[in-house]
Amino acid sequence: MAKAWHLTSRPQGLPTRDNFALREVPDGPLDKDQMRVRNLWLSVDPYMRGRMNEAKSYAANFQIDQPMTGGAIGEVIESAMEGFAPGDLILHMGGWRDGGIIGLDMMPNKLPTEALAAGLTPQTFLHNMGLTGGTAWIGLLRIAAAKPGDTVFVSAAAGAVGSAVVQIAKAREMTVIGSAGGAEKCAWVRDLGADAVIDYKAEPVLSGLAQALRDLGKSGVDVYFDNVGGEHLDAAFAVANDFARFAICGMIDVYNDTKPQEMKYLVRAIPARIRMEGFIYTDQFIDCMEEFHADMGGLIASSAVTMRETVHDGLESAPDAFLGLFSGGNIGKMLVRL
Ligand code: NDP
Repeated sequence: MAKAWHLTSRPQGLPTRDNFALREVPDGPLDKDQMRVRNLWLSVDPYMRGRMNEAKSYAANFQIDQPMTGGAIGEVIESAMEGFAPGDLILHMGGWRDGGIIGLDMMPNKLPTEALAAGLTPQTFLHNMGLTGGTAWIGLLRIAAAKPGDTVFVSAAAGAVGSAVVQIAKAREMTVIGSAGGAEKCAWVRDLGADAVIDYKAEPVLSGLAQALRDLGKSGVDVYFDNVGGEHLDAAFAVANDFARFAICGMIDVYNDTKPQEMKYLVRAIPARIRMEGFIYTDQFIDCMEEFHADMGGLIASSAVTMRETVHDGLESAPDAFLGLFSGGNIGKMLVRL
């Protein structure tokens, strides 16, 4: 019998393990358009925090006492769905569980066998070739329209999205300033090619950013890729060049807040004519999927884009992996291996 993590209560502020329970899910013979799957990798992502609230987030909210869902890589065990056979590796949305019955509502897609044969690991489709790499690529190149020569500031630069942003920007000859929490993460962001790195846990973001710009001989930032919100976003407003573009990807600093945060420098949006645009990966992805896969596949093949993974083992560890995102417990992509 398969087991799945259920949301048992809606978190107030930072979630705890008490908000979740591991329970068996119904099993039985397959209906048409269903498969039985054994999951191999589960993704935990910050956007799932919004799905735990009562109020609607951009993805449908989780229901109390129902299994949670999310990105996963699984192996097909038995199939009554056309086009899928036992042994196929699939990307689907039936995460937070060790397997079970998957229908079309879980959006199963076969992993491309040629990419796997070329050496890509299956879980790459949960990060650089999937949600987080796609979010980085779309946000930087489509939403912010970043171009060679731009000075790009990216927060949570040692995370899954942020590390991809750093590397895509460097591959396109941009100057990159990253911010991350702690010396180990900052050293990795530098290794990825960032021209300057701010340890926001050791100094205020604005003074770090101003110093980095002085050291690099730059007047300000042309592009801000926001993964964090709060103090980072405010500092970006303070140092934005005229006609800067802000791609608003995520605001992990405020996801668990119960009160709004103060923005001191937002008013600079007017004289600096800043364009700020929030975006959601799923809105944009279909339109640019082919171009993204070709470009990102090439960057990975040439090692211009690499990845680190922080791996928790076993279904039991999924809530800890998820909660770790909010305390900086990951370098690169946070994953659960089953
Ligand atoms: P990450 O791998 O970046 O993990 C989260 C990281 O955020 C942590 O490692 C931590 O790094 C940092 N962090 C946590 N709390 C804070 C805080 N209070 N202040 C500053 N940094 C903090 O996650 P993802 O790459 O998956 O996601 C990055 C962002 O992108 C998130 O905001 C997410 O919601 C968003 N996103 C948006 C999508 C969209 O379609 N718009 C799609 C996918 C992701 P550190 O130790 O450096 O603090």
